[in-house]
Amino acid sequence: MPPVAAELTGSWLRRMALASGLPAQDLVRGILNGSQTVQITGTPKTALEAYLNAPARSALARFTRVPQSRLYELLPQLGPTHPRLSDDGGPQAAWFTPAHAWVTACPQCTARAWSRRQPVLLYPGSVGHICRRHRRWLLANAHGPASVPLGILPEVMAAHRRHVALVRGVAGAAGAVAVAAAMVWSWLAQQWWIGDKLWSRRAAALASLTGCPAVSVAAHALIAYPETISVAALLSNPQWQQRLRQSASDDGLRAAKAMALEDIGRWIGRPWLVDWLTADARTRRPGAEERDPLQWWLGQLTGPNPSPGDLWCVPDSLARPVHYGDRLTFLTDLRVREVIDGAKAACLTGGWEPVPHRPSPAGPHHSSR
Ligand SMILES: [Zn+2]
Repeated sequence: MPPVAAELTGSWLRRMALASGLPAQDLVRGILNGSQTVQITGTPKTALEAYLNAPARSALARFTRVPQSRLYELLPQLGPTHPRLSDDGGPQAAWFTPAHAWVTACPQCTARAWSRRQPVLLYPGSVGHICRRHRRWLLANAHGPASVPLGILPEVMAAHRRHVALVRGVAGAAGAVAVAAAMVWSWLAQQWWIGDKLWSRRAAALASLTGCPAVSVAAHALIAYPETISVAALLSNPQWQQRLRQSASDDGLRAAKAMALEDIGRWIGRPWLVDWLTADARTRRPGAEERDPLQWWLGQLTGPNPSPGDLWCVPDSLARPVHYGDRLTFLTDLRVREVIDGAKAACLTGGWEPVPHRPSPAGPHHSSR
């Protein structure tokens, strides 16, 4: 039973355990058992992902007869050794919460590996959150299938096509998506979404497809996904960047910003964006300008000798909040706890998010998906 590409190590171990009729912890203990003492932290009941040290990885390869190099290709979190484990001494395993977003695989696409009792859980990487073949946005549910059918949201499928092309064609595309997400979020959080017909329609569709109240779906990544990908494509366009640099050097940063907003508004089908933001600026709190992701990005772009890293490493203070609950507090005055419970029940609080892929500690086997 080989792993599915990009699977959680813990998901694969659980599937093997189910097939052999053992509790997952007993299977792990059995795999690691040798002449040396085995040390296992946590249990499969308390956390989803299994981390192994080097001796434990060798034991896993021996037991499953899958070469270690192949396991590293398929299991993104298999190596290097987790900082809380050590390679000295005997085999060690630990069950921890996954450090990266995960999704429940598309059941049709993983038919042979899929079981009702143990779904396949995957790391979506930068674009694996949508199954193109079956037109589904994959959600995160450890206990069963969970996805949003995209038949009535063709703009989300179209955005995913653009997203895949962007990732293939532009170095640092994930960073551009993160910066774009921060910009679109900054407008969303300024109540843009309340009167916006496209967003309202999308929120109503997601609410009806998940059986969740509209207010509970507002903070989901799907709602602003098409605009985020459009803005990311524009931000990555070298000719557009050059025009902005020119405008900043001729007429100053303020003029470049006005031009950027004008272009972005047209590009995402909201030609009123610049007027709306200008009107809003009059009522904005002092210091809001410094917390504006577009302002930050233009500063990077027009600074002396910007490197690609400078352009796409949006500071955490300006980035779109990662946690669902943190985003919801900006979008509703209702009691957030209740609204989140609704989103949780519909599996909307986890899964793929447009967060920058932070540089990870270099390791010989680390996957840089
Ligand atoms: Zn599929």
